[in-house]
Amino acid sequence: MTIPATSDRSYQGLRAETKALTTSTNATMTTRDPDIQDSARALRVMAHGKWQQAGVPHRGWLCVGEEDLDDVRETCEMCEHQEIRYVQLMTHTEYPDVLRVGCDCAGYMSGHLLAAEDRDREMRNRANRLRTWRRRVWSSLAGRDGQVTFLQGMRVRIYRVEGGWGGDVYDKWKSKERISRIIHPTISATKAAAFLVVDRIQQWRRR
Ligand SMILES: [Zn+2]
Repeated sequence: MTIPATSDRSYQGLRAETKALTTSTNATMTTRDPDIQDSARALRVMAHGKWQQAGVPHRGWLCVGEEDLDDVRETCEMCEHQEIRYVQLMTHTEYPDVLRVGCDCAGYMSGHLLAAEDRDREMRNRANRLRTWRRRVWSSLAGRDGQVTFLQGMRVRIYRVEGGWGGDVYDKWKSKERISRIIHPTISATKAAAFLVVDRIQQWRRR
């Protein structure tokens, strides 16, 4: 049987990567072969922290959540090295704790680098959209203590309610209104909550 050259090449690459992933303490590997660029990256990531600790699984982790820390930074709990803002929450059947890690570690722990990068990119994009949202101009609401803004067929209102601030988002395209069920302590917290509703509507429309 003849194996096409391309699949042979990717097999070689896969084998090199697998080797790197299973011999993380062996940092003597040379990196001249372009197929193992990613493995060199893996070795750099795996030179630190829990990657070097016995009893911590290297593969087979699952991402169960994401968190954008905004202006706070924390240290990746796997490599105990990288300072991260965009956190991926990882679990493993043979490890008791959920680990809060950065994109690189999440990629190697799960064995799906591209998926980890997608999650990281999506968090960064959402953070950019939130930054744009925070620059929005709001008008004062007629007849009550509050503010209103309009975008893409949506009307977003925030207003004072008993004990804090509430709000609603009216989607003209669907004639649907979403009213905040929780009372927010500040105007800016209410606007951030409204962003999540508006952003979900916009992402849904794009599909
Ligand atoms: Zn890490």
